[in-house]
Amino acid sequence: MFIPLSRPDISQREKNYVLEVLDSGHLSFGEKLRRFEEIFCTAFQSKYAVAMNSGTSALHVAVKSLGLGPGDEVITTPYSFIASSNCLLYEGVKPIFVDIEPVSLNMDIEIIEKAITAKTRGILPVHIFGHPNNMEQIMEIANKYKLRVIEDACEAIGAKWKKKNVGTIGDVGIFAFYPNKQITTGEGGILLTDSEEIYLQACSLRNQGRDLQSTWLDHTIIGYNYRMSDLQAAVGLAQMERLNDILMKREEVADRYLSLISDYQLPISIPQPLPQSTKSWFVFIILLPSFINRDLLSQNLAQKGIETKPYFPVIHLQTSYQKLFGYSPGDYPISEHISRRSLAIPFHTKLTYPEQQYVIDHLAFELERMMKSGN
Ligand SMILES: *Cc1c(COP(=O)(O)O)cnc(C)c1O
Repeated sequence: MFIPLSRPDISQREKNYVLEVLDSGHLSFGEKLRRFEEIFCTAFQSKYAVAMNSGTSALHVAVKSLGLGPGDEVITTPYSFIASSNCLLYEGVKPIFVDIEPVSLNMDIEIIEKAITAKTRGILPVHIFGHPNNMEQIMEIANKYKLRVIEDACEAIGAKWKKKNVGTIGDVGIFAFYPNKQITTGEGGILLTDSEEIYLQACSLRNQGRDLQSTWLDHTIIGYNYRMSDLQAAVGLAQMERLNDILMKREEVADRYLSLISDYQLPISIPQPLPQSTKSWFVFIILLPSFINRDLLSQNLAQKGIETKPYFPVIHLQTSYQKLFGYSPGDYPISEHISRRSLAIPFHTKLTYPEQQYVIDHLAFELERMMKSGN
């Protein structure tokens, strides 16, 4: 028995679309890319969408399109995947971390204003694990201090703050399509914006600095090759057409876990989205009691074929960040505390009920054994 942490949901439609691209001869900037971007504009009522070869590329382009650079500061969370803060460093922008609140695991809205200085130019909220940030308050703060807002919605496609889709509320929003995300293109990301200026800048940056109007060998700024191929867009288009089904299936699987966990009365807690929000299920995270040795638990589960991962190590304590900024343990205590206790367990649409029972059964057994033996 091996139960992987994640697995993409690929149907015949994805395969057909990829074959169509191969048969068409248009493997880049073809019809599928155009339709992939279009379906985002329609589904999320966004004026513009620019697909790229990764979520990280799209975040980088977002930072650069807003004209942020050396000397600027952007407020963000240390409890995230490292890309949400690396994209600032690429442009010489300094990430200013704000600790999280321990239930939704997003930036603590109450302390954001305290982090604002004369150099602050933006806020980069991450909708961690598909939990929406309080976007109303973030936009209020941004308006008050004239800050730009980049939403890292890479883990939150389909999630909503009140009635609004995350990723469409700030100046710019990013979704990502690595195979463990809700929907995938293998590798990929997309930038959404209502600003024509950001849109044009993003199109140029992803395509070697070419203007939309310019000829293929005319480069007006220094850009990158961040293009998404039509093979990837074909997979993504099929995934987007099935988005609601996929999100519903994920919710069903999550609900089955939740009821198993409550049946077993496990001594764990589950992070919760803010009440005014609708979450999108990205990974299934459990928070362990502090007396459980998480790494040992993870090893024991691995021996039973159950894959788990400690999501997320905090960004400020990564070696690269400690070297650059001199951070040390204790700087963002809530993030660090949560980070030491959080564990992702297998979660994807193909997970069967017997497999989930197997996971929770072994989790219950190991927790009990570790509690009795004091690890
Ligand atoms: C997945 C992810 C990204 C983007 O990752 P890529 O692998 O570059 O697509 C960015 N931020 C967060 C929070 C993510 O989870």
